[in-house]
Amino acid sequence: MTSYSSSLSVVIPVFNEEANVAALAEKLHAALSGIGRAYEILLVDDGSRDATWERLKAAAARYPHFRLIRFRRNFGQTAAMSAGIDAAKNDVIVTLDADLQNDPADIPMLVAEMEKSGYAVVSGWRKDRKDAFLNRRLQSMLANGLISRITGVKLHDYGCTLKAYRRDVLQGVRLYGEMHRFIPALCSWIGGDISEVVVSHYPRVAGQSKYGIGRTFRVILDLF
Ligand code: UDP
Ligand code: MG
Repeated sequence: MTSYSSSLSVVIPVFNEEANVAALAEKLHAALSGIGRAYEILLVDDGSRDATWERLKAAAARYPHFRLIRFRRNFGQTAAMSAGIDAAKNDVIVTLDADLQNDPADIPMLVAEMEKSGYAVVSGWRKDRKDAFLNRRLQSMLANGLISRITGVKLHDYGCTLKAYRRDVLQGVRLYGEMHRFIPALCSWIGGDISEVVVSHYPRVAGQSKYGIGRTFRVILDLF
């Protein structure tokens, strides 16, 4: 056993989440301040039109581990994640959503699983997912089946943003469109093993989902 513990870069896309930033910052700090390793938190403001940027600056003034990136206009979740991934400096990159549907408290568990397994990707699985059935979970079930078949990589939950990646592997894949959900498959193709862990999931309590039915079609296009 080595006692080496990998350093951490957390990457979070943020679009019009003014009502979630303060609580998110607090939960990240609570989850990571005692983790006993170097870490940074990259928050990418994807062209928000509300007070998100001001809230992010206030959080960064309070917590020195925060690094901010700002897009001039809205480029989409995958582009925001991609910019954060490019800027990340540490050994392990963890991605998650800003709206508190993912729980920052799960981050240490993903990192522990990565070190234990030695795998390049640890994928969060929202086994008890708190989203509407018809326009969300049903679509996801179909998408998960399709992505599994086409990519040959078997996971329960491609759409869960909460995942951990070895930086050297992740920075080797190019992302566009709605492709963030195919990151595990792309990593697997270039030789990374994947393990899956069950993560918490919560309903969105503040702000609004940025997606409707149109996303389903964009995901299918990117798959091909
Ligand atoms: N997001 C983003 N750019 C966008 C749309 C969404 O950065 O154009 C962020 C959003 O702030 C959140 C995450 O991506 O942190 C997931 O978005 P959302 O919660 O709307 O998706 P859902 O959970 O409804 O699938
Ligand atoms: Mg959400």
